Amino acid sequence: MKLVTYMADAEAAARLGILRDGLVIDAAGFGAHIGHAVPDRMLDLIDEGPYAAAQLGKALEAAQGDWGSGNTRPIENVRLLAPIPRPRKNVFGIGLNYLDHITESAKALDTDDSLPKEPVVFSKPPTAVIGPGDPVCHDADMTQQLDWEVELAVIVGTRAWRVARETALSHVFGYSVLIDISARDNRRAGQWIFSKGQDSYAPFGPCIVTADEIPDPQKLDLWLTVNGVEKQRSNTSHMLFKVGKLIADLSKGITLEPGDIIASGTPEGVGAGRDPQEWLWPGDVIEAHVQGIGTLRHPVIDSTVRPRGR
Ligand code: ZN
Repeated sequence: MKLVTYMADAEAAARLGILRDGLVIDAAGFGAHIGHAVPDRMLDLIDEGPYAAAQLGKALEAAQGDWGSGNTRPIENVRLLAPIPRPRKNVFGIGLNYLDHITESAKALDTDDSLPKEPVVFSKPPTAVIGPGDPVCHDADMTQQLDWEVELAVIVGTRAWRVARETALSHVFGYSVLIDISARDNRRAGQWIFSKGQDSYAPFGPCIVTADEIPDPQKLDLWLTVNGVEKQRSNTSHMLFKVGKLIADLSKGITLEPGDIIASGTPEGVGAGRDPQEWLWPGDVIEAHVQGIGTLRHPVIDSTVRPRGR
């Protein structure tokens, strides 16, 4: 299943939907139609555990297009939000997790070119998350080095504490796309949270694909363009620490809970690593894609014209 959080119109509440054949099917509405209680929020579905999502998937197959009247809308007619619009805690970020990106970072940034022995972990607060199409805010008073990073995002499904790498993927609810926007000149004393955690620095979506549809997360192409020009293209097979290892490692010290998000690192081709270096500016458009999940598209705007109310 491809799961989304959507608003039917500008005033509507955010609701859980299922993306299918260009349609958004309202999850709770469909549930009512077939006599099953289905949550109307993404986190509530995740909290119900893998069985609930699997049952919903089965019910969709059985329905064969009978979604119930009023329960579907063409995707063009709705506004998609981040699949989890407000994560309960910080998004976990993994630095230096693709081999070529480690090399380019060592040349351009103050990182080591030797391979990390353990995953490099940082985080981005929930306020950094924006949904599909929302603007990435550029504040020229804050940064002259705004950069892009396309990443596979992993959504935790069940509580994980000290789990083994071999069984870690059983704790995954699904996968999504996250752009790890980074103000390279806002690192402080080697710490990354301020450079990667600012408002709008975590475009996330457009959907969560449930883990049953991605049995091997290490086989996915991913790419990113700026103004239509390809900047990054790689495959998740090139991760230094694979998704199972990331979950096992984090869970050694931090309990992972349903709805937690792990941004699994970016391949080579970031702006800092280019010669000459390239940065994002107002007017630019970023597109980021992970195979089998979807594409995010975000304008970069001058934050002095940032929309209020976010
Ligand atoms: Zn990153």
